[in-house]
Amino acid sequence: MATLFKNFLAVDGEMAEGRYCSLRVEDGRITAVADKLAALPGDEVVDGERRMAIIPGFVNAHTHAAMSLLRGIGEEAPLMEWLQKKIWPAEANLTREHIYWGTMAALLEMAACGTTAFADMYFEMDAVVEASLEAGMRCAACRGIVGGERGKFEEGLRLAETWKAHRDMITVQLGPHAPYTVPLQLMQEICAAAAERAMGVHFHFLETEWELSYLRDELKMTPKEYLESSGILAAPYGILAHCVWLDAETVGAVDFSRMAIAHNPNSNLKLGSGVMDLTGLGGKTKKIALGTDGAASNNRLDIWGEMRCAALLHKGIRRDPMALSACDALRMATFEGASALGFKKKGLLKEGWVADLVLVDLDQPHYIGIGTENAAPFLVYAGSSADVYATMVNGAWVYRDRVFPGMDSEKILAKAGEMRTDLLGR
Ligand SMILES: [Zn+2]
Repeated sequence: MATLFKNFLAVDGEMAEGRYCSLRVEDGRITAVADKLAALPGDEVVDGERRMAIIPGFVNAHTHAAMSLLRGIGEEAPLMEWLQKKIWPAEANLTREHIYWGTMAALLEMAACGTTAFADMYFEMDAVVEASLEAGMRCAACRGIVGGERGKFEEGLRLAETWKAHRDMITVQLGPHAPYTVPLQLMQEICAAAAERAMGVHFHFLETEWELSYLRDELKMTPKEYLESSGILAAPYGILAHCVWLDAETVGAVDFSRMAIAHNPNSNLKLGSGVMDLTGLGGKTKKIALGTDGAASNNRLDIWGEMRCAALLHKGIRRDPMALSACDALRMATFEGASALGFKKKGLLKEGWVADLVLVDLDQPHYIGIGTENAAPFLVYAGSSADVYATMVNGAWVYRDRVFPGMDSEKILAKAGEMRTDLLGR
Protein backbone atom coordinates (compact mmCIF):
# COMPACT_ATOMS: atom_id res chain seq x y z
CA MET A 1 0.00 0.00 0.00
CA ALA A 2 1.50 3.31 -1.10
CA THR A 3 0.41 6.86 -0.40
CA LEU A 4 1.23 9.85 -2.59
CA PHE A 5 1.17 13.24 -0.89
CA LYS A 6 1.08 16.06 -3.41
CA ASN A 7 1.03 19.85 -3.17
CA PHE A 8 2.18 19.97 0.45
CA LEU A 9 4.37 22.55 2.15
CA ALA A 10 7.06 20.26 3.56
CA VAL A 11 9.26 21.36 6.44
CA ASP A 12 11.50 19.57 8.91
CA GLY A 13 14.12 20.55 11.50
CA GLU A 14 17.01 20.44 9.05
CA MET A 15 15.56 22.28 6.08
CA ALA A 16 16.68 25.88 5.84
CA GLU A 17 13.36 26.65 4.19
CA GLY A 18 10.08 24.88 3.55
CA ARG A 19 9.37 23.42 0.15
CA TYR A 20 6.19 22.83 -1.86
CA CYS A 21 6.54 19.27 -3.06
CA SER A 22 5.23 15.71 -3.26
CA LEU A 23 6.20 12.70 -1.15
CA ARG A 24 5.65 9.06 -1.86
CA VAL A 25 5.29 6.64 1.05
CA GLU A 26 5.59 2.92 0.56
CA ASP A 27 5.91 0.11 3.12
CA GLY A 28 6.30 2.56 5.95
CA ARG A 29 9.10 4.58 4.33
CA ILE A 30 9.37 7.81 2.40
CA THR A 31 10.52 6.52 -0.98
CA ALA A 32 10.53 9.74 -3.00
CA VAL A 33 10.50 13.50 -2.43
CA ALA A 34 10.25 15.73 -5.50
CA ASP A 35 8.61 18.89 -6.78
CA LYS A 36 6.07 16.73 -8.60
CA LEU A 37 5.44 12.99 -8.53
CA ALA A 38 2.98 11.04 -10.64
CA ALA A 39 0.58 8.63 -8.95
CA LEU A 40 1.14 4.95 -9.64
CA PRO A 41 -1.72 2.44 -9.93
CA GLY A 42 -3.05 1.58 -6.47
CA ASP A 43 -1.67 4.73 -4.77
CA GLU A 44 -3.83 6.50 -2.25
CA VAL A 45 -3.48 10.13 -3.35
CA VAL A 46 -3.72 12.85 -0.70
CA ASP A 47 -3.78 16.31 -2.25
CA GLY A 48 -2.78 19.08 0.13
CA GLU A 49 -3.73 21.69 -2.51
CA ARG A 50 -0.92 23.89 -1.13
CA ARG A 51 -3.15 24.44 1.90
CA MET A 52 -1.55 21.81 4.10
CA ALA A 53 1.89 21.34 5.60
CA ILE A 54 3.61 18.01 6.06
CA ILE A 55 6.10 17.68 8.91
CA PRO A 56 7.78 14.76 10.72
CA GLY A 57 5.85 13.22 13.63
CA PHE A 58 6.45 14.67 17.08
CA VAL A 59 8.26 12.59 19.67
CA ASN A 60 7.45 12.80 23.35
CA ALA A 61 10.81 11.99 24.94
CA HIS A 62 9.57 11.71 28.51
CA THR A 63 6.17 10.81 29.84
CA HIS A 64 4.17 8.47 32.04
CA ALA A 65 1.20 7.95 29.75
CA ALA A 66 -1.17 6.22 32.17
CA MET A 67 -0.94 9.23 34.48
CA SER A 68 -3.65 10.62 32.21
CA LEU A 69 -5.93 9.03 34.85
CA LEU A 70 -4.35 11.22 37.56
CA ARG A 71 -4.72 14.57 35.82
CA GLY A 72 -5.87 17.36 38.08
CA ILE A 73 -5.07 15.77 41.44
CA GLY A 74 -2.86 17.65 43.89
CA GLU A 75 -2.63 20.74 41.73
CA GLU A 76 -0.22 23.52 42.59
CA ALA A 77 1.81 21.70 45.25
CA PRO A 78 5.62 21.36 45.51
CA LEU A 79 7.04 18.29 43.74
CA MET A 80 7.91 16.17 46.78
CA GLU A 81 4.65 16.96 48.56
CA TRP A 82 2.71 16.32 45.35
CA LEU A 83 4.47 12.96 44.85
CA GLN A 84 4.29 11.79 48.45
CA LYS A 85 0.76 12.91 49.34
CA LYS A 86 -1.10 12.58 46.07
CA ILE A 87 0.64 10.71 43.29
CA TRP A 88 2.41 7.82 44.98
CA PRO A 89 -0.64 6.82 47.13
CA ALA A 90 -2.85 6.83 44.00
CA GLU A 91 -0.26 4.91 42.00
CA ALA A 92 -0.07 2.26 44.73
CA ASN A 93 -3.60 1.20 43.73
CA LEU A 94 -3.03 1.10 39.97
CA THR A 95 -3.73 -2.23 38.30
CA ARG A 96 -2.81 -3.50 34.87
CA GLU A 97 -6.31 -2.60 33.66
CA HIS A 98 -6.04 0.99 34.90
CA ILE A 99 -2.70 1.35 33.16
CA TYR A 100 -3.90 -0.14 29.88
CA TRP A 101 -6.89 2.20 29.60
CA GLY A 102 -5.01 5.20 30.97
CA THR A 103 -2.36 4.65 28.32
CA MET A 104 -4.99 4.25 25.62
CA ALA A 105 -6.54 7.59 26.61
CA ALA A 106 -3.08 9.17 26.44
CA LEU A 107 -2.52 7.64 23.01
CA LEU A 108 -5.73 9.24 21.72
CA GLU A 109 -4.54 12.59 23.01
CA MET A 110 -1.03 12.21 21.64
CA ALA A 111 -2.10 10.96 18.20
CA ALA A 112 -4.49 13.90 17.82
CA CYS A 113 -1.62 16.27 18.71
CA GLY A 114 0.67 14.80 16.03
CA THR A 115 2.81 12.62 18.30
CA THR A 116 4.04 9.42 16.68
CA ALA A 117 6.39 8.04 19.37
CA PHE A 118 6.73 8.41 23.11
CA ALA A 119 9.15 7.38 25.85
CA ASP A 120 7.23 5.93 28.75
CA MET A 121 8.44 5.12 32.24
CA TYR A 122 5.87 3.35 34.35
CA PHE A 123 4.86 -0.09 35.58
CA GLU A 124 2.78 -2.89 34.04
CA MET A 125 4.75 -1.97 30.93
CA ASP A 126 3.49 -4.94 28.93
CA ALA A 127 0.07 -3.27 29.03
CA VAL A 128 1.63 -0.01 27.81
CA VAL A 129 3.40 -1.77 24.94
CA GLU A 130 0.25 -3.71 23.99
CA ALA A 131 -1.78 -0.48 23.94
CA SER A 132 0.87 1.21 21.77
CA LEU A 133 0.98 -1.63 19.27
CA GLU A 134 -2.81 -1.74 19.05
CA ALA A 135 -2.91 2.01 18.45
CA GLY A 136 -0.06 1.77 15.94
CA MET A 137 2.19 4.16 17.89
CA ARG A 138 5.89 3.80 18.61
CA CYS A 139 6.92 3.42 22.24
CA ALA A 140 10.24 3.51 24.07
CA ALA A 141 9.25 1.56 27.14
CA CYS A 142 10.94 1.23 30.49
CA ARG A 143 9.86 -0.27 33.74
CA GLY A 144 10.32 2.42 36.38
CA ILE A 145 12.61 1.15 39.12
CA VAL A 146 12.05 2.72 42.54
CA GLY A 147 13.72 1.56 45.75
CA GLY A 148 16.24 -1.22 46.11
CA GLU A 149 14.11 -4.11 44.86
CA ARG A 150 15.82 -6.23 42.26
CA GLY A 151 12.46 -7.53 41.00
CA LYS A 152 11.68 -4.33 39.12
CA PHE A 153 15.13 -4.32 37.56
CA GLU A 154 14.62 -7.91 36.42
CA GLU A 155 11.20 -6.96 35.05
CA GLY A 156 12.94 -4.29 32.96
CA LEU A 157 15.35 -6.87 31.53
CA ARG A 158 12.51 -9.27 30.83
CA LEU A 159 10.53 -6.52 29.08
CA ALA A 160 13.35 -6.14 26.55
CA GLU A 161 13.32 -9.89 25.86
CA THR A 162 9.55 -10.05 25.48
CA TRP A 163 9.30 -7.29 22.88
CA LYS A 164 12.55 -7.67 20.96
CA ALA A 165 10.77 -8.93 17.83
CA HIS A 166 8.94 -5.57 17.61
CA ARG A 167 12.16 -3.56 17.48
CA ASP A 168 10.90 -1.25 14.70
CA MET A 169 7.98 -0.07 16.86
CA ILE A 170 9.16 -0.73 20.41
CA THR A 171 12.50 0.04 22.03
CA VAL A 172 13.13 -0.88 25.65
CA GLN A 173 15.31 0.98 28.15
CA LEU A 174 16.15 0.33 31.77
CA GLY A 175 14.36 2.87 33.96
CA PRO A 176 15.98 3.68 37.31
CA HIS A 177 13.61 6.42 38.50
CA ALA A 178 16.10 8.95 39.92
CA PRO A 179 19.25 9.23 42.06
CA TYR A 180 17.13 9.90 45.16
CA THR A 181 14.82 6.89 44.72
CA VAL A 182 17.33 4.21 43.66
CA PRO A 183 20.31 3.24 45.86
CA LEU A 184 23.62 4.02 44.17
CA GLN A 185 24.74 0.41 44.17
CA LEU A 186 21.62 -0.73 42.32
CA MET A 187 21.97 2.22 39.93
CA GLN A 188 25.50 1.03 39.15
CA GLU A 189 24.27 -2.51 38.50
CA ILE A 190 21.49 -1.22 36.24
CA CYS A 191 23.88 0.95 34.22
CA ALA A 192 26.38 -1.92 33.93
CA ALA A 193 23.59 -4.21 32.67
CA ALA A 194 22.56 -1.58 30.13
CA ALA A 195 26.12 -1.34 28.81
CA GLU A 196 26.45 -5.11 28.67
CA ARG A 197 23.14 -5.66 26.86
CA ALA A 198 23.35 -2.65 24.53
CA MET A 199 20.25 -1.17 26.17
CA GLY A 200 19.44 2.45 26.80
CA VAL A 201 18.76 3.99 30.20
CA HIS A 202 15.99 6.46 31.00
CA PHE A 203 15.95 8.36 34.27
CA HIS A 204 15.01 11.60 36.00
CA PHE A 205 18.00 13.78 36.77
CA LEU A 206 18.13 17.03 38.73
CA GLU A 207 14.51 18.00 38.26
CA THR A 208 14.49 20.12 41.42
CA GLU A 209 17.10 22.10 43.31
CA TRP A 210 16.53 19.82 46.31
CA GLU A 211 18.19 16.96 44.37
CA LEU A 212 21.46 18.88 44.31
CA SER A 213 21.45 18.99 48.11
CA TYR A 214 20.52 15.29 48.20
CA LEU A 215 23.57 14.44 46.09
CA ARG A 216 25.74 16.69 48.21
CA ASP A 217 24.46 15.76 51.69
CA GLU A 218 23.43 12.12 51.32
CA LEU A 219 25.80 10.82 48.65
CA LYS A 220 28.59 13.41 49.17
CA MET A 221 28.81 13.88 45.43
CA THR A 222 28.67 16.57 42.81
CA PRO A 223 26.49 15.95 39.74
CA LYS A 224 29.70 15.17 37.81
CA GLU A 225 30.75 12.58 40.37
CA TYR A 226 27.31 11.02 40.32
CA LEU A 227 27.18 10.80 36.53
CA GLU A 228 30.61 9.17 36.49
CA SER A 229 30.22 6.82 39.42
CA SER A 230 26.71 5.61 38.49
CA GLY A 231 28.05 4.33 35.17
CA ILE A 232 25.24 5.95 33.23
CA LEU A 233 27.62 7.68 30.83
CA ALA A 234 28.81 4.26 29.66
CA ALA A 235 25.31 3.15 28.65
CA PRO A 236 24.87 2.92 24.85
CA TYR A 237 22.30 5.71 25.02
CA GLY A 238 20.33 7.48 27.67
CA ILE A 239 17.43 9.83 28.24
CA LEU A 240 18.02 12.16 31.15
CA ALA A 241 14.70 13.77 31.93
CA HIS A 242 14.57 17.38 33.14
CA CYS A 243 18.20 18.34 33.97
CA VAL A 244 16.84 21.65 35.28
CA TRP A 245 19.72 21.92 37.75
CA LEU A 246 22.43 20.46 35.50
CA ASP A 247 25.05 23.01 34.54
CA ALA A 248 26.93 23.35 31.29
CA GLU A 249 30.27 23.00 33.07
CA THR A 250 29.37 19.52 34.33
CA VAL A 251 28.21 18.40 30.89
CA GLY A 252 31.40 19.79 29.38
CA ALA A 253 33.56 17.96 31.91
CA VAL A 254 32.20 14.44 31.27
CA ASP A 255 31.66 12.26 28.20
CA PHE A 256 28.04 13.18 27.58
CA SER A 257 28.13 12.15 23.93
CA ARG A 258 25.66 9.27 24.22
CA MET A 259 23.19 11.04 26.50
CA ALA A 260 20.12 12.96 25.41
CA ILE A 261 18.30 15.42 27.60
CA ALA A 262 14.51 15.38 27.64
CA HIS A 263 13.53 18.98 28.26
CA ASN A 264 10.07 19.28 29.81
CA PRO A 265 9.49 23.04 30.01
CA ASN A 266 5.78 23.12 30.81
CA SER A 267 5.94 20.50 33.57
CA ASN A 268 8.98 22.21 35.12
CA LEU A 269 7.20 25.56 35.01
CA LYS A 270 3.98 24.24 36.47
CA LEU A 271 5.74 22.48 39.34
CA GLY A 272 7.88 25.57 39.94
CA SER A 273 11.06 23.52 39.50
CA GLY A 274 12.91 26.10 37.42
CA VAL A 275 14.08 26.37 33.84
CA MET A 276 16.75 24.18 32.27
CA ASP A 277 19.72 26.08 30.85
CA LEU A 278 18.99 25.02 27.29
CA THR A 279 21.25 27.57 25.69
CA GLY A 280 24.19 26.65 27.92
CA LEU A 281 23.66 22.89 27.67
CA GLY A 282 22.91 23.16 23.96
CA GLY A 283 26.41 24.45 23.44
CA LYS A 284 27.73 21.21 24.92
CA THR A 285 25.29 18.70 23.51
CA LYS A 286 22.93 19.02 20.60
CA LYS A 287 20.95 16.07 21.83
CA ILE A 288 18.08 17.87 23.47
CA ALA A 289 14.60 16.45 22.93
CA LEU A 290 11.23 17.53 24.28
CA GLY A 291 8.91 15.78 26.70
CA THR A 292 5.66 16.53 28.46
CA ASP A 293 6.19 14.41 31.57
CA GLY A 294 2.96 12.92 32.91
CA ALA A 295 -0.44 14.53 32.43
CA ALA A 296 -0.69 15.03 36.18
CA SER A 297 2.12 17.59 36.12
CA ASN A 298 1.79 19.27 32.72
CA ASN A 299 -1.31 18.88 32.25
CA ARG A 300 -1.15 18.32 28.45
CA LEU A 301 0.50 15.63 26.37
CA ASP A 302 1.21 18.05 23.56
CA ILE A 303 4.72 18.25 22.13
CA TRP A 304 3.74 21.08 19.80
CA GLY A 305 2.97 23.07 22.96
CA GLU A 306 6.37 22.14 24.44
CA MET A 307 8.06 23.21 21.21
CA ARG A 308 6.42 26.63 21.29
CA CYS A 309 7.04 27.04 25.01
CA ALA A 310 10.73 26.12 24.67
CA ALA A 311 11.24 28.44 21.71
CA LEU A 312 9.74 31.38 23.64
CA LEU A 313 10.99 30.61 27.14
CA HIS A 314 14.71 30.61 26.38
CA LYS A 315 14.48 33.83 24.42
CA GLY A 316 12.94 35.46 27.46
CA ILE A 317 15.37 33.96 29.97
CA ARG A 318 18.39 34.91 27.87
CA ARG A 319 16.88 38.16 26.61
CA ASP A 320 17.95 36.99 23.20
CA PRO A 321 15.49 36.48 20.32
CA MET A 322 18.02 34.11 18.72
CA ALA A 323 18.42 31.86 21.78
CA LEU A 324 16.48 28.99 20.18
CA SER A 325 15.33 29.18 16.57
CA ALA A 326 11.99 27.82 15.41
CA CYS A 327 13.84 25.38 13.17
CA ASP A 328 15.93 24.06 16.08
CA ALA A 329 12.82 23.73 18.23
CA LEU A 330 11.16 21.70 15.47
CA ARG A 331 14.25 19.51 15.22
CA MET A 332 14.19 18.89 18.98
CA ALA A 333 10.50 17.97 18.84
CA THR A 334 11.03 15.46 16.03
CA PHE A 335 14.48 14.16 15.01
CA GLU A 336 16.22 14.60 18.37
CA GLY A 337 13.37 12.89 20.15
CA ALA A 338 13.41 9.90 17.81
CA SER A 339 17.17 9.49 18.21
CA ALA A 340 16.90 9.77 22.00
CA LEU A 341 14.38 6.91 22.00
CA GLY A 342 16.69 4.69 19.96
CA PHE A 343 14.75 4.93 16.70
CA LYS A 344 16.81 5.27 13.54
CA LYS A 345 16.05 7.24 10.37
CA LYS A 346 13.06 8.95 11.87
CA GLY A 347 12.22 12.61 12.21
CA LEU A 348 13.25 14.11 8.87
CA LEU A 349 11.49 14.23 5.50
CA LYS A 350 14.10 12.36 3.52
CA GLU A 351 14.03 9.50 1.07
CA GLY A 352 14.57 6.21 2.86
CA TRP A 353 13.45 7.62 6.18
CA VAL A 354 10.51 6.32 8.18
CA ALA A 355 7.05 7.65 7.28
CA ASP A 356 6.03 9.06 10.67
CA LEU A 357 4.26 12.18 9.46
CA VAL A 358 1.86 14.91 10.48
CA LEU A 359 -0.43 16.83 8.14
CA VAL A 360 -1.25 20.36 9.24
CA ASP A 361 -4.30 22.30 8.09
CA LEU A 362 -3.04 25.69 6.92
CA ASP A 363 -6.43 26.85 5.67
CA GLN A 364 -6.94 29.00 8.74
CA PRO A 365 -6.60 32.70 9.56
CA HIS A 366 -3.42 32.35 11.60
CA TYR A 367 -1.57 30.88 8.61
CA ILE A 368 -2.24 33.72 6.17
CA GLY A 369 1.18 34.58 4.79
CA ILE A 370 2.92 31.24 5.40
CA GLY A 371 5.34 30.27 2.64
CA THR A 372 8.57 28.43 2.06
CA GLU A 373 10.78 31.07 3.68
CA ASN A 374 8.87 31.36 6.97
CA ALA A 375 7.32 27.90 7.33
CA ALA A 376 9.04 26.82 10.55
CA PRO A 377 8.45 30.07 12.48
CA PHE A 378 4.80 30.11 11.35
CA LEU A 379 4.26 26.58 12.61
CA VAL A 380 6.11 27.07 15.90
CA TYR A 381 4.80 30.51 16.88
CA ALA A 382 1.40 30.83 15.15
CA GLY A 383 0.42 27.18 14.99
CA SER A 384 -0.73 24.71 17.60
CA SER A 385 -1.64 21.05 17.84
CA ALA A 386 -5.25 22.07 17.16
CA ASP A 387 -4.13 22.42 13.52
CA VAL A 388 -3.19 18.73 13.19
CA TYR A 389 -5.33 17.21 10.45
CA ALA A 390 -3.77 13.75 10.40
CA THR A 391 -1.01 11.66 11.97
CA MET A 392 0.70 8.75 10.26
CA VAL A 393 3.01 6.20 11.88
CA ASN A 394 5.03 3.81 9.78
CA GLY A 395 2.95 4.67 6.72
CA ALA A 396 -0.39 3.96 8.45
CA TRP A 397 -2.94 6.48 9.69
CA VAL A 398 -3.38 6.62 13.46
CA TYR A 399 -5.47 9.79 13.31
CA ARG A 400 -7.19 11.49 10.42
CA ASP A 401 -9.83 14.19 10.42
CA ARG A 402 -10.95 13.46 13.99
CA VAL A 403 -11.08 9.71 13.45
CA PHE A 404 -8.70 7.14 14.99
CA PRO A 405 -8.58 4.16 12.60
CA GLY A 406 -6.82 1.81 15.06
CA MET A 407 -8.58 2.87 18.24
CA ASP A 408 -12.18 2.74 19.44
CA SER A 409 -12.15 6.25 20.86
CA GLU A 410 -15.63 6.11 22.38
CA LYS A 411 -14.87 2.92 24.24
CA ILE A 412 -11.48 4.23 25.38
CA LEU A 413 -13.01 7.42 26.80
CA ALA A 414 -15.72 5.46 28.61
CA LYS A 415 -13.27 2.89 30.03
CA ALA A 416 -10.71 5.54 31.07
CA GLY A 417 -13.50 7.42 32.88
CA GLU A 418 -14.51 4.22 34.65
CA MET A 419 -10.90 3.54 35.65
CA ARG A 420 -10.53 7.03 37.04
CA THR A 421 -13.68 6.65 39.14
CA ASP A 422 -12.56 3.24 40.30
CA LEU A 423 -9.18 4.62 41.32
CA LEU A 424 -10.09 7.96 42.83
CA GLY A 425 -13.84 7.82 43.30
CA ARG A 426 -14.33 10.78 40.94
ZN1 LIG B 1 8.79 12.02 34.81
